[in-house]
Amino acid sequence: MTVAERTPARRRRVGVLALQGDVREHFVVLERLGASPVEVRSPSDVAGIEALVLPGGESTTMSMLLDSSGLSRELEQMVADGLPMLGTCAGMILLAREVLDGRPDQRSYGAIDLAVRRNGFGRQVASFETDLDVKGLDEPMHAVFIRAPLVERTGTQVEVLAEVDLPGEEGRRRPVVCAEGNVIVSSFHPELAGDGRLHEQLLFNVEGD
Ligand code: GLN
Repeated sequence: MTVAERTPARRRRVGVLALQGDVREHFVVLERLGASPVEVRSPSDVAGIEALVLPGGESTTMSMLLDSSGLSRELEQMVADGLPMLGTCAGMILLAREVLDGRPDQRSYGAIDLAVRRNGFGRQVASFETDLDVKGLDEPMHAVFIRAPLVERTGTQVEVLAEVDLPGEEGRRRPVVCAEGNVIVSSFHPELAGDGRLHEQLLFNVEGD
């Protein structure tokens, strides 16, 4: 089946957290998939959204802005409601249960049972690109890692969909795409390579509800 054939008939209203970070790239991918992306900057923007994308950026800054915008409580509620979500890079950090090497006042929302270490790939390899095999996808995904979080622990309900060799430590693989229920996270930026296959999965999670 082609992507077009599998695209849901109804335009799904998908919020993209737009406090900071690479919002535009997510819009482009979502529009291409036939969804209707909306910027989420304040509590009034969440009305009617059927899924939420949390982009990359700086999780510390986003955490502060979530509090000052009043969106923090909305996000807690969306997590409690089991709204389908996709978090990339800093978005993964925000959705994780536990953040290591974060700022003491940084918040995360526990939508997926992971412990992630901010900037955990180390200084030498802070940013890199690679092609990854992702469970369920026929073709590899080009993954752009930018000061990415490193997954240190996965909960028992978490499904690991892709792993990468720790740069410089071949054979020590770490999860980089994970899912639990309706929540998908990646430590890299699929949207920067224009890859919409995780977004497509997000839209299927909306259909499945
Ligand atoms: N290092 C950033 C953080 O800690 C994440 C980087 C990114 O999203 N590309 O939030």
